[in-house]
Amino acid sequence: MQKFDLLATFRFQPIIKLVLFCTTMLTTTVQSETPNPAQSMAEFCKDLPRPEYAKLNRLKHDDDWFELYLVAPGVTAIYEPHQWQEVISYLIEGEKKALLFDTGNGLGNIAAVVKKITDKPISVLNSHTHYDHVGGNYAFDNVFGMDTDFARQRQSGHANRDIAIEASQEALCRPLPEGVTKNNHVGRPFKITQFIKDGFIFDLGNRKLEVIHIPGHTPDAVALIDRDAGLMWTGDSYYSGPIWLFAPETDLEAYAESLARLIKEVPNLKALLPAHNTPWVSPEVLRRVKRGFHTMLTGGAKLISKGEGMVEYKIPGEKQFSFLMRDEKLPYKKLK
Ligand SMILES: [Zn+2]
Repeated sequence: MQKFDLLATFRFQPIIKLVLFCTTMLTTTVQSETPNPAQSMAEFCKDLPRPEYAKLNRLKHDDDWFELYLVAPGVTAIYEPHQWQEVISYLIEGEKKALLFDTGNGLGNIAAVVKKITDKPISVLNSHTHYDHVGGNYAFDNVFGMDTDFARQRQSGHANRDIAIEASQEALCRPLPEGVTKNNHVGRPFKITQFIKDGFIFDLGNRKLEVIHIPGHTPDAVALIDRDAGLMWTGDSYYSGPIWLFAPETDLEAYAESLARLIKEVPNLKALLPAHNTPWVSPEVLRRVKRGFHTMLTGGAKLISKGEGMVEYKIPGEKQFSFLMRDEKLPYKKLK
């Protein structure tokens, strides 16, 4: 596909909002039940900071677009709390090298931030190549990508018309970094310098990270696992909040299979490190996600219309996550 446009919508749950995208050919804005964007902005900003951050080890630094949290030895969560995506990228350091897992929206200068954290050579891998996770890729010479057509296509970046909304007033709780405006914000093209497959191991020096291909949210979605430390980075395949499964490139059958694969790792994990909202989540939630997904597909979830063809499925008794879907017939028979 030549052109990637944006489907934007607001995430509403008690303390949640976000925006997402997809690859429709026309730019479409989908709004939730709150019709006034100014009100939406007030909603999202007033619920920050999220309480989960109070117990994390925040690092001081001199860039006020990002907040840094040392969540485990050698693992820095790079959080963008002032923008409605609330993206979290991670710098993971071994003794010899570092891996930057996602590079954010491209609004702030993530390359400058990570180069102040470490002198080690930094490579980049994206949890998937949706625009909110590849924004800083252009600034790095070593970019790994999953060997998929989807990742290849995404190297071309995004035009301003597709992602201007990400730099708009309704998306922000504070002014943009200097020099960035709604009118000049673009998703800059980048080059994947090495294509990899499921099972690839990053050896950072006394720290090994294995790539687990978990297609579903996108064809190129991955989890990253540090088995010795008991940490698993889940990208957008799991984060606390409404999990977005509505993009045209989302494959629900693949998502269910990928969840099953991730759940096998749960007994050996201490924490999940997702790509939005909060950076340290108890792994047990993955079992509930799998059950909740089944509940949704078999008609047991509460369906809340968001308008414009979108619905949120809430699982009875579940407060930590929900599913945001297109309002169309679910493939009950295809999925088990
Ligand atoms: Zn995302």
